[in-house]
Amino acid sequence: MTTISLARSSRPDGFTVNTPGKQPAVFLDRDGVLNSTDGFVNSPEDLDRALMPDALKAVARLSQQSDYPIILVTNQAGIDMGKFTPEQNQAIQERLAQRIEEAGGRMDSIYVCPNGKKFQVPEGEVDCRKPDAGMFFRAAQDYGPRIDLADSFMVGDMTTDIGAGKNAGARAILVKTGFGGSDGKCNATPDHVAADLNGAVDWILSQK
Ligand SMILES: [Mg+2]
Repeated sequence: MTTISLARSSRPDGFTVNTPGKQPAVFLDRDGVLNSTDGFVNSPEDLDRALMPDALKAVARLSQQSDYPIILVTNQAGIDMGKFTPEQNQAIQERLAQRIEEAGGRMDSIYVCPNGKKFQVPEGEVDCRKPDAGMFFRAAQDYGPRIDLADSFMVGDMTTDIGAGKNAGARAILVKTGFGGSDGKCNATPDHVAADLNGAVDWILSQK
């Protein structure tokens, strides 16, 4: 059962990293990693058109060959910009979880950041909007001792994903699908570069 959460900001305290016995989680970006970025995804039908079959197979392989929690972290400022409602967003993410299950994979949790650029982060908290790491901190709090951010992986197609992964203390993998790192918004160096999610899964499984 996939849990779907709208995140706004999160406190970075309340969990520890690098604790023996904790295990990695695999954090995945959505747009450009699981679905193409050729068009907007404002409905479940848009998502169906955009999903990349090879990426769904890669999630299935990761699901079957590891017990790492698989957690989606996606910026969807279109919610705050009024392009789609929180209810439409929920339907899109439910469709994603359904398609992944149909392909033989699992998505344990989905965190959605609805914040636009103007969101005012409360004092002492971290924005959920990547490259800030609020969604990762929220997941670490929700999963508690089951995951260790320092041992975890983040896979994304933008430099903001790489920045977010590094801000969370995780290992960051850039994929060459979607924007392929061409956004140039963040000066962050990935730990690995892969052609696509399939290649990223190869590298994650090789790090055991
Ligand atoms: Mg992306």
